Amino acid sequence: MTASISYEFFPPRSLDASFRLWDTIGALKHTDPAFVSVTYGAGGTTRKLTHDAVEAIGKHTGLPVAAHLTCVDASREETLDIAQRYADAGVTQIVALRGDPAKGDQGFQPRKDGFQSSVQLIDALARIGRFDLTVGAYPDTHPDAASPQANIDWLKRKIDAGATRAITQFFFEADTFFRFRDACAKAGITAPILPGILPIQSWAGTKRFAERCQTPIPAALANAFDTAERDNRSSLLAAVVCTELCTALLEGGVDHLHFYTLNAPGITRDVVHALGLAPDLSLEKVA
Ligand code: FAD
Repeated sequence: MTASISYEFFPPRSLDASFRLWDTIGALKHTDPAFVSVTYGAGGTTRKLTHDAVEAIGKHTGLPVAAHLTCVDASREETLDIAQRYADAGVTQIVALRGDPAKGDQGFQPRKDGFQSSVQLIDALARIGRFDLTVGAYPDTHPDAASPQANIDWLKRKIDAGATRAITQFFFEADTFFRFRDACAKAGITAPILPGILPIQSWAGTKRFAERCQTPIPAALANAFDTAERDNRSSLLAAVVCTELCTALLEGGVDHLHFYTLNAPGITRDVVHALGLAPDLSLEKVA
């Protein structure tokens, strides 16, 4: 099985977090990712940090870096100014999103002078003509979508507005992805849809995140993690579960995996090695 891979990081907010990010990049770099991406904090809270992290990673690693950009709490002018600065710095990939509100706020509240939706943002960025635009996609249907079909129709609008590929929200079962991929194809979406893979580093955190995204958790998985936590074996289970999910995706024709690393390399690296997508350098040293 062969496939390309990519990694998502979040921008560090402290010196300690910067070291952690740097260690994570160092631990994954040998796996030769096609690109890495850097998130934009909920509520637009990491505008400058994201920009700095994107530039620093690009400069110090030479890896292609995709900058996430959202519509939250910024005017059109401010958002396009950030995009312009990315273009000037040689950043050509943007993950264009509507975005989530800051913690505690109810739903997305567009600013009067800001982009009202992801489609407007994508359209404006596409007109600049200097970016490859990636968008978010939701195999388990986004909570704001009126129906599963509306969820797919909106994705089509984002692609038609100028995006060239989509990365999905995390999901737990390969069939969820395949059903979504088939429904997208039926709706005339031809752009690549890259599955977003969440290695489960904290079961409690994953449950909270899944609840927020309304991503159903299979009962068998919940039971397995409850038992593994009791026996202090969660990391092992997480690596196995993630490897199985990725194997099923690759067997079903997926040719790219995008990992949500949460700035910790362990499980992601083990899975990439287990899948044979990159050499395990520690084994080479032993040999
Ligand atoms: P959209 O696709 O624009 O909207 C979500 C759903 O709402 C759609 O499925 C559609 O059905 C419905 N909808 C929205 N507007 C309309 C409309 N006008 N008319 C009809 N239907 C509508 N969040 C961050 O804050 N920072 C990040 O860096 C970040 N990175 C992400 C990366 C990926 C790969 C993904 C999948 C998500 C990311 N998110 C991030 C989360 C994302 O911001 C949230 O899921 C947000 O709620 C939706 O953003 P979107 O651009 O995908 O939304």
